[in-house]
Amino acid sequence: MSWPPLREELRGIAPYGAPQLDVPVQLNVNENPYGPSPRVVADIATAVAEAAGTLHRYPDREFTELRAALADYLGHDVSPEQVWAANGSNEIMLQLLQAFGGPGRTALSFAPTYSMYPEYARDAMTTWVAGRRESDFSLDLDAARALVREHRPSVVLLPSPNNPTGTALPAEAVTALCEETGDGVVVVDEAYGEFRRAGTPSALELLPRHRNLVVTRTMSKAFALAGARLGYLAAAPEICDAIRVVRLPYHLSAITQATALAALRHAPELLGRVEELRGRRDETVRWLREQGLEVADSDANFVLFGRFADRHAVWQGLVDRGVLVRETGPDGWLRVSIGTAEEMTAFTDALTEVMEEQR
Ligand code: PMP
Repeated sequence: MSWPPLREELRGIAPYGAPQLDVPVQLNVNENPYGPSPRVVADIATAVAEAAGTLHRYPDREFTELRAALADYLGHDVSPEQVWAANGSNEIMLQLLQAFGGPGRTALSFAPTYSMYPEYARDAMTTWVAGRRESDFSLDLDAARALVREHRPSVVLLPSPNNPTGTALPAEAVTALCEETGDGVVVVDEAYGEFRRAGTPSALELLPRHRNLVVTRTMSKAFALAGARLGYLAAAPEICDAIRVVRLPYHLSAITQATALAALRHAPELLGRVEELRGRRDETVRWLREQGLEVADSDANFVLFGRFADRHAVWQGLVDRGVLVRETGPDGWLRVSIGTAEEMTAFTDALTEVMEEQR
């Protein structure tokens, strides 16, 4: 055995993570560009100060108050017993795979998709299968069902809107895959759900019809709370109960619970910029198309655009001008998060220069 005694399949693997470069315009990890107002900051600080007085005790392991507040926020008749939360939807996803994946079982998704999924599968010793999306990044439903029939996955991961393409799934696709998957679970990852364009409903509406459907959400994106690390899901109570078996005891700290509860009391304000960000996303899509680029339709707070013969050179050109985007997705494409109006102007100015330089 070599030192340190890392699992064989983890040897030589670099830890996942977008570069955290100190440049003025950060448009690479799909954050909300608007920080909390002084009023929200003060309320969170008061809630955290109260929680600090109890820090000699373990927190409420069942985060009862937070589950009720999240159920209330979700609406759609979701009850607190149908809600589970963890440190970001990243931890939610890992817990789902720890509970429902495992040796001899398969997790399935459709590429290009969120690059962490295969890592959760690996960490939970679950076989990973990725089908393909169409050239417009939609799903061919017949092919998707056939793949599910072939591999009989115990977990199907469907981000909607998808990262990095921004593509939302129609309700028929979720329904068809829930039916095809049978006793496996279908996870619709709605990390960017609040940014959808009108006409695509949330999979929350389908929960009463499919006991194997899990809808995950996060406070990191539309809710502008990435630093607090709070993700959650809605599903049948049996699914929440099953996750309890794999969660670490007291995984949600008293500070996290207090912060999330205080933030939820300010939901309308924290979500107040979503409309504006959607508008700017649509403008960004239009502008990029006017430059003659290929652009994926987006229901999220980011846009995938290309194609560049040397995308790394374009990425570097933008970094040199103080703008950080993400080198991700299929070869030749780049992804830009939607920032403030000033940040998007910096992005379009920098990209114009880089493309002229490359002509
Ligand atoms: N799902 C998708 C599709 C994502 O893009 C991300 C973050 N980039 C997450 C889940 C995880 O987000 P968080 O852990 O901050 O909730």
